[in-house]
Amino acid sequence: MAEASRRGARAPTLGLALALALAAPSGLAADGAAPGADPKAEPRAQLLAAYPDHLDRIEGNDLVWRDGTRMALDDGRGTKPFAAWLAGPDIEDMLTPVYPAGAPISPPPKDFDPGRARNETFFDRMYGDCRKGEVSRNLVNIVWLPTKAPQRLKVSRINGVAARLQRISQELDALPARFDRYLMPAAGTYNCRTIAGTGRRSAHGYGIAIDIALEHAHYWRNAAAGPDGSYVYRNEIPHEIVAIFEAHGFIWGGRWHHYDTMHFEYRPELIPPRIPQ
Ligand SMILES: [Zn+2]
Repeated sequence: MAEASRRGARAPTLGLALALALAAPSGLAADGAAPGADPKAEPRAQLLAAYPDHLDRIEGNDLVWRDGTRMALDDGRGTKPFAAWLAGPDIEDMLTPVYPAGAPISPPPKDFDPGRARNETFFDRMYGDCRKGEVSRNLVNIVWLPTKAPQRLKVSRINGVAARLQRISQELDALPARFDRYLMPAAGTYNCRTIAGTGRRSAHGYGIAIDIALEHAHYWRNAAAGPDGSYVYRNEIPHEIVAIFEAHGFIWGGRWHHYDTMHFEYRPELIPPRIPQ
């Protein structure tokens, strides 16, 4: 459904309206009915489709949650420079740039960090505020690599994240032994902390992220910046591993200019899961 929606948006046809209606039966058909007229329609439909347990519909600029909560999609501050986009994204800002799911692994363009901006109000509402103990009550154990090297990890059960990560784990567990060193031991899932060097809450604080083997990870903060502010891109994580995560709606930090190659997090609004839960 989401694949159809993406294709439809590139070549606006009657199919687009149909795809949007299918993707968001309760909300977006009215907004998305004019093919090609509104570039925001498709990411908005994808947002609603990503979180059916929580999000009900979009009315004008309001995202309406199933419990009646309303949040502004656009804060009216216009297109933000990179630093402002990262520090204080509105909900719509989180949806751009488009995450290049399935693309070959290559150094991302400068400041291309799809999914790195997170609206805290939105994620606090969805998964809870870990500083208040709201996240831990929904954490459940999964078994990482049940055959290769079993390890218990705590993950949020909200939106089926734990079940999805368990499926990912089983698929990774079936990979040939040459992949093991990238996967074991996992370096962590839930952790109520801020991102290094910032006051922003990490995706790990929501129980929706995992870091895989630290020994083969590369992180932009450990790289020397060039004169234009870019970093030498380094990655060892094989495409086969990235592809398994992406198929289940997890984005990868290796696709960011500010790269974090051991990091994956569940962000179905950016990459609709191709495999049902
Ligand atoms: Zn991480």
